[in-house]
Amino acid sequence: MARELDNREAGAPAKVRGMMSDRKRDLVLVGGGHAHVQVLRDFARNPPRRARLTLVVDTPIAVYSGMVPGFVAGQYRREDLEIDVLPLARRAGARVFLAPMTGLDMQRRRIRLAGRPSIPFDVASLDVGSMVAGFDLPGVRERALPTRPIGAFVQLVEEVATRAQPGPRGGHPLRLLIVGGGAGGVEIAFTLLARLGRGGAEARATLLSGGSRILADYPESLVRRVLRRARASGIDVRNGVRAVAAEAGVLVCGDGAREPFDLLVWVTGAVASRALAGIELPKDERGFLRTRSTLEVEGCDGLFATGDCAHLVDFPRTRKAGVYAVRQGPVLAANLKAALDGGRLGRYRPQSDFLTLLNMGDGTAIGGKWGVSFEGSWVMRLKDRIDRRFVRQFQVLDTRGAPAEAFREPPSMSAAMLCGGCAAKLGQTALHRALSRLDPPRRDPAVVLGLEAPDDAAAVVSPSGDVIVSSLDAFPAFTDDPYLVGQVGAVNAVSDLLAKGVAPRHALALVALPGGESPEQAEESLVQVLSGARAALDSLGVTLLGGHTTTASDLLVGFSVDGIADPRGSLLRMSGLRPGDRLILTKRLGTGVLFHADGRGEARGPWIQAALASMLQPNLAAARVAREAGATAATDVTGFGLAGHLAEMLRASGVSAVLDVGALPALPGALELLARGLRSTSHAANERGGRNIVIGSDAVAHPKLPLLFDPQTSGGLVFGVPAERAAFALERLRAAGDDAAAIIGSVAPGRADGSRIEVRAGR
Ligand SMILES: Cc1cc2nc3c(=O)[nH]c(=O)nc-3n(C[C@H](O)[C@H](O)[C@H](O)COP(=O)(O)OP(=O)(O)OC[C@H]3O[C@@H](n4cnc5c(N)ncnc54)[C@H](O)[C@@H]3O)c2cc1C
Repeated sequence: MARELDNREAGAPAKVRGMMSDRKRDLVLVGGGHAHVQVLRDFARNPPRRARLTLVVDTPIAVYSGMVPGFVAGQYRREDLEIDVLPLARRAGARVFLAPMTGLDMQRRRIRLAGRPSIPFDVASLDVGSMVAGFDLPGVRERALPTRPIGAFVQLVEEVATRAQPGPRGGHPLRLLIVGGGAGGVEIAFTLLARLGRGGAEARATLLSGGSRILADYPESLVRRVLRRARASGIDVRNGVRAVAAEAGVLVCGDGAREPFDLLVWVTGAVASRALAGIELPKDERGFLRTRSTLEVEGCDGLFATGDCAHLVDFPRTRKAGVYAVRQGPVLAANLKAALDGGRLGRYRPQSDFLTLLNMGDGTAIGGKWGVSFEGSWVMRLKDRIDRRFVRQFQVLDTRGAPAEAFREPPSMSAAMLCGGCAAKLGQTALHRALSRLDPPRRDPAVVLGLEAPDDAAAVVSPSGDVIVSSLDAFPAFTDDPYLVGQVGAVNAVSDLLAKGVAPRHALALVALPGGESPEQAEESLVQVLSGARAALDSLGVTLLGGHTTTASDLLVGFSVDGIADPRGSLLRMSGLRPGDRLILTKRLGTGVLFHADGRGEARGPWIQAALASMLQPNLAAARVAREAGATAATDVTGFGLAGHLAEMLRASGVSAVLDVGALPALPGALELLARGLRSTSHAANERGGRNIVIGSDAVAHPKLPLLFDPQTSGGLVFGVPAERAAFALERLRAAGDDAAAIIGSVAPGRADGSRIEVRAGR
């Protein structure tokens, strides 16, 4: 148990949960708020000893609130105020679980996550922000734009600003109604009006404050300046107005007044986020966690809370403002290390005043400190400089994924890491050579698909006449979230059967757990892997029957899957393509380079989110459409890359293909990373295996060319259909939700020179 400096027992040996064991203790950070980004930055430089760090976030993008009004005004781009916590966490050596926290069980020391098993912690810290108050008033949720969560607000503002039409609307100016007279409400009123005005929209704003004046805790002189500017801008400021409900186009107030609006923005005070509702720990009347000045939650050793989600019991008047969360960061970083080591906790004392800088949206700002106020464009320049400098400290990557100057050194833990997932497949050439050195397979009349004509799956006829199709797929972890590895592993494993037009029915799991884990950690990892696998398999109607566990240097997950071929239809094989067929690819390419970059801390969070969403998409609809469109042959695209898997089909079918490299669909970020020269570790082997490819002079320098050799984990299907069925297939795939599916080329007769693929740049 870590103690405070003034603890009466100071000097007595510290007793920390799990301290006696050699295992690394689990430190879990929940939320990527203002304090946690500083902890991550601190840990990237001075990692805590003997700790396994996990970051749990609902979204990888955190937003720096100080620049939000500037974004609303159109002065900043989104990326200026966004902090991508994924690459930052990688620098700190953290595992990242992209899943919202739904609660916390202090007795069992576990954090509950949405839709997946809880995770254990020895030390944890919550920095999950807050929500706007009064959003549950009748009709408000349906009609108002909330400013918290702030990331969602930023997205919504962008949509509103793009939708706003120039000129008046419906015979009157656009009526903005801003509810909330704090600093946020004031800034939003000025900046939104300025933005809409610059876009040509005729708008006027009303600012409603529930108190007797706006900016209740701010210096009088600052308030006077704001009111003067409000009058000049035509902003109608009304005090003492309490909103009670929202109806279509009208806000109903406590005194019975009805305020018409075209856009209602909700910038009221803060209430506890929904995630805290699931936590039964000491809270204040608004649901915030009662926290001591050590930032530990009252009566909960090893559990910290910071920023908006904490109520500081020793300083109860502390406002919900980012400036406090920012100053808590360094104290929190030190206290987390102390809690892990059994050291002494330091205390946080809120600053008694801070520099207020309010963005007026027109290139000027109003500032105040120690009762003095000032305004002008120089104040805005000062604010801009302070804000940009702050955010830059945490912005690891630029928009292409290139590390910023201060982050050029890749994280040491993963710099030399070999890619996992299907990128860890043995090269195609080595596989073929090894198989060719074996004695010919024993003749077995029951074999339908076997080593004589290798395909994605094996098939045998049972004594009762059923054709039983089975396959085996395993790969080392491609990321550090075991739940995701299990889930993607299962989706990937059933693809072999789906590519053959067979519904998967049963699965067995093989899980190799890292040898360095303690028995409890191994148990937790296994629960996560198998829960992920079950989530994928159950939804596909596949029963997990059993499996086998072992240990290895790294996590490895695999599945054998079986199913029975539909007696009415023949199996889709790799052979069967005919000249003239069109080739259709489902899902976007690029998982290999994206996860390679993630291992180096050079992938942006949203890119990884998009890649995961694609990898978790089973090829069920693709397989159904392939059948409906009369597919002549099919395979799934995995570790050998599109070129490797397609070449196998073409070889098995005795034909060649002409590919349009411009038609290849790419995952977000993949082309940026390839353009920067990043390649998955097995990319080179895939390229070497592509000797049977002729690249047209127009395609040689095409930015999408490297996609052909990028190893895919849980990639899509590639199949051939008669030319006249191609449009139908594409339409059906789109209807099934695959907006990336594309016709990537056509099948041609076999070539005398033995080459299989000719690549052209069609568009
Ligand atoms: C329009 C506006 C302007 C503002 N301007 C300023 C300003 O200029 N200066 C200032 O000091 N304050 C300002 N504030 C207040 C400021 O936004 C907050 O006080 C500040 O963001 C709180 O920081 P935080 O670290 O507590 O949480 P946040 O910055 O809100 O971060 C919360 C984090 O937790 C994550 N999260 C949330 N729920 C979950 C979950 N269930 N599981 C996992 N992760 C989760 C979020 O994705 C996010 O990463 C402004 C507020 C508004 C609305």
